[in-house]
Amino acid sequence: MSVPVRVRIAPSPTGNLHVGTARTALFNYLYAKGHQGQFILRIEDTDRQRSEEQYVDDIFKGLKSLGLHWDEGPDCGGQYGPYRQSERFDLYPQYAQQLIDKGLAYPCYLTQDELEAEKEQAKAQKRPYVYSGKCRDPRVREELAKDASRKPSLRFRLPDNPGTLTFHDEVRGELSFDLALLGDFVIMKNDGTPTYNFAVVVDDMTMGITHVIRGEDHISNTPRQLLLYEALGASPPVFAHVGMILAPDRSKLSKRHGATAVAEFVDQGYLPEAFCNFLSLMGWSPPDGQEVGSLEQFAAQFGFDRLAQSPAVFDIDKLKWLNGQYIRQLPLEDLWVRCQPYLSAYDVSRYDQGRLLMMLEAVREPLTVLSDITEDVAYFFEDHPKLSEQSQQVFTEADTKRVLEAFQSDFLASARFDTPEALAEDLKTLTHTLTSEAGLKTKTVMWAIRSALTGRVRGADLSITLYILGKDAIASRVDYALSHHLAQALPKP
Ligand code: GLU
Repeated sequence: MSVPVRVRIAPSPTGNLHVGTARTALFNYLYAKGHQGQFILRIEDTDRQRSEEQYVDDIFKGLKSLGLHWDEGPDCGGQYGPYRQSERFDLYPQYAQQLIDKGLAYPCYLTQDELEAEKEQAKAQKRPYVYSGKCRDPRVREELAKDASRKPSLRFRLPDNPGTLTFHDEVRGELSFDLALLGDFVIMKNDGTPTYNFAVVVDDMTMGITHVIRGEDHISNTPRQLLLYEALGASPPVFAHVGMILAPDRSKLSKRHGATAVAEFVDQGYLPEAFCNFLSLMGWSPPDGQEVGSLEQFAAQFGFDRLAQSPAVFDIDKLKWLNGQYIRQLPLEDLWVRCQPYLSAYDVSRYDQGRLLMMLEAVREPLTVLSDITEDVAYFFEDHPKLSEQSQQVFTEADTKRVLEAFQSDFLASARFDTPEALAEDLKTLTHTLTSEAGLKTKTVMWAIRSALTGRVRGADLSITLYILGKDAIASRVDYALSHHLAQALPKP
């Protein structure tokens, strides 16, 4: 019987949930769910200086918003807790002791300054820095230990002729490393805390992690981790290192490219499910080529064979496209709820619910981010909408006055405001009269009316706009257009 899959995401709470971390979490989640496995959240908060509780909260919130619910973690517990590294501190010394007992670890008494000097020397000799191995010799250690101010760290002892370490990566195939370049590396710092490489191995080992799926920036850590598994007599997990996420200019995705935290994208009006869909496609491709899919659909298809070695470029246009797809598929009531944060500046109570939903439906088609809605519905809530440049132009044209006067006298008095359909018919009659009898262009008619009512030449369907605005608001806007916009735009006699 095969061992049940257990994977984890192990973020360090030194910043808000980053896009790259979210994608790693997602790939782990998909793998777990596709294999009836467990997805574990472990908070790697050993860096006490940089770790902050607010970031832990942001990580929880961000993962949950994306639908990446974990089976075990700091908040919900589990059989392998605690799930915060800072609460596991009493675990690491015992494994360190095992390595000391086996002769595979030793204390190093060199001070920071002495180590710096070693590094400087290597630099001067233009060779990569490798720890000298000075404290391998028990006599040296004994001598240095006499100075009580020297606080020892603990180093892992490489084999005498370390040679090459080769391992299989599920994404990259066979990878080989020259171990001599590692040097004896620190596993416990001189303040008694474990280094990342040691803590991660002890944690993954004691939590029964079967697969480690993470970014390729961790490849160089893997040889050290494999040496530690071997030294501790444990079998290592399967490793899969995914290509990084790059900005469109192919540099590392950073603040200077705009948002990098999941919450920022959600605040801008990307739907979490669309964002999650987008993340799935950065470094993975579904075998059936169907790029729009749910977590469940992707989990059923997810495998290492379709993970990319090469970096994924963050394509904001694709994200927008996907978001638009999701926005158009969402039930209108649901979309309305999600748009609320972007409508807070408006008094939405001036329209009934039916009209509000109609308004939303009328502007939804071209939406790519929810935040666009603020601007797109502005004219429904402003008594005198600001004129766009094109509308300003419309008011300088000779026929505009004629259209608006006809609209006021022929249309407004008799138009049927019962339904948008009835209004559409009455509008057609007016347009017909003005085009066939007065010889105006349809565009001239439409742009004049739109400009007077909305301040723009494009927007929601005009009959729907008329229906939502209602007769009184329309009358007052047309009055204003005639008395104000036209008066201002027309050349003075
Ligand atoms: N805390 C590490 C990180 O956030 C985890 C690395 C790992 O997955 O081993 O990069």
